[in-house]
Amino acid sequence: MAGLYIHIPFCKQKCSYCDFHFSTSLKNKKALIQALCSEIRLRSSLTKTPIETIYFGGGTPSLLNYDDLKILFDSIHSNFDICKEAEITIECNPDDINEIKLSEYKKLGINRLSIGVQSFYDEDLCFFNRAHSAKEATKAILLSQDAGFENITVDLIYGFSMLTQKKWENNLKKIEKLKIPHLSAYTLTIEPKTTLNYLLKTKKINNMSDELVIQQFQFLIDYTSSIGFEQYEISNFAKQGFISKHNSNYWLGKEYLGIGPSAHSYVENKRFWNLSNNAIYIKSIQQNTPFYEEEWINENMAYNEFVLTRLRTSWGINYNELIIKFNVEIARHFNSKSQILLERNLIIKTNTGFCLSKQGIFIADSVISDLFI
Ligand code: SF4
Repeated sequence: MAGLYIHIPFCKQKCSYCDFHFSTSLKNKKALIQALCSEIRLRSSLTKTPIETIYFGGGTPSLLNYDDLKILFDSIHSNFDICKEAEITIECNPDDINEIKLSEYKKLGINRLSIGVQSFYDEDLCFFNRAHSAKEATKAILLSQDAGFENITVDLIYGFSMLTQKKWENNLKKIEKLKIPHLSAYTLTIEPKTTLNYLLKTKKINNMSDELVIQQFQFLIDYTSSIGFEQYEISNFAKQGFISKHNSNYWLGKEYLGIGPSAHSYVENKRFWNLSNNAIYIKSIQQNTPFYEEEWINENMAYNEFVLTRLRTSWGINYNELIIKFNVEIARHFNSKSQILLERNLIIKTNTGFCLSKQGIFIADSVISDLFI
């Protein structure tokens, strides 16, 4: 089993762009931790090989205290075989990070921090309704480095109207100055049930123009490349030795188990997704009633998933792998569609197959869907 994902569905407050599953009430926290342990036990029989990566995501996993995490780690270690060199990541919000917490993380074996910075400007953080300030973000990074964490990734958002080119440049310069080895940078997408969507609909904010979003994406690619980052996935950039193993395994189509409300799993050609409601999830686990839905992934779905995940990465589509995995008809479909994209210079040939071209990366979603069945 490549990866284990644990979803911690609690947050201090709702960020204006967020449509993830979480609750701002911690009243069910104890019961939820117990339910997570029960699910870990229930799912353990699905793993045949040791776990290579563990990822605490959310929500805000850094809201958990040492005792909560210890209970989860004990449960994980008693139910799974964990690789010695496993990458163990926890997502943290800057305002939760302090020396004590960092030393507890070390003690638990956590070796990678994903810090949700989003911007180094207070006005942007206020716009996003983040719970931290720009000063706290810098302090959290410095404290983490002082505590001995080398493997740190930071999230940034670009492509929103308040983010001038100068500010975007400064945010990236700050990544360089703070010697961060991994960056996830996402263009702002306004999802339906979010505060930003309401503000957009009521004309209180504007979208950034497509031209400016493209300009910021181009700057991101050029700047990160100039300071030694590899863009190994459309939104992910790493210095040598710091590529995220957890996410890479997902993009390379390896199996993973997702534990907790709203978590997804992919095991033996089946996809599972858990209920997205804390109270119902807990009750279902306690009463031994179904807490997830599942579907078989047929060959066409598997092919679409293959194209989608591989083409987002710098490794691209391995043609031999495609031929081995899928039937002749699917291979024929791929050949004819990819030919058109090659002619339009949206994908290029590599030694092993195909990857997005410099132009294609800007319209990746459309290129990828052109290859779908
Ligand atoms: S902290 Fe993360 S999960 Fe929680 S509301 Fe903000 S973006 Fe969403």
